Amino acid sequence: MVTSAEIMTPRYSLRMTNLRRTLSLLGTVVLGQLCLPGDVVAWCALLLVRALWGSSSRWSWSDEVLVVSLREGSWPARTWFRSWGGATLGHAVMLAPGQERVLPHELVHVKQYEAACCLGALVGLVVLALGSWRGALAAWCLAPALSYVGAMLAALLRGRAPYRENVLEAAAYAEAP
Ligand SMILES: [Zn+2]
Repeated sequence: MVTSAEIMTPRYSLRMTNLRRTLSLLGTVVLGQLCLPGDVVAWCALLLVRALWGSSSRWSWSDEVLVVSLREGSWPARTWFRSWGGATLGHAVMLAPGQERVLPHELVHVKQYEAACCLGALVGLVVLALGSWRGALAAWCLAPALSYVGAMLAALLRGRAPYRENVLEAAAYAEAP
């Protein structure tokens, strides 16, 4: 039993700070595991992009993200990625040449990806409880992509632009234009 007088002491405050740090560290590890299937695919894909068309790559420890920048004049920069500033694939971000400024926007998508992985894991547990491990695996792995497609569909059904006006993009543009 903790008394109100005890709560005011520096020792109690330190104990709570340490507990919060421990829980935060534990949470980061669990979150990393929940995101791992998509991240393994994303890191392999982006490392391949780096090898073929990249100019630089780095691991951001603060954001826990692999960042790959495309080379000026490379095939994606000249073709299908020409009108893009950046793209997020799990804990991996691909940037067009000279587009470092869009990184904060992409990092919002990384947080959205983490939320979708948590949702996927929870749905996966329900499906597992219903008796299908294949369905559970599919729910877990597909949740991030389905979450984005769902946001686009909802925007479309409301008569909005499916990309720019979907709720995930709106949130990312609001936080990091
Ligand atoms: Zn975006």
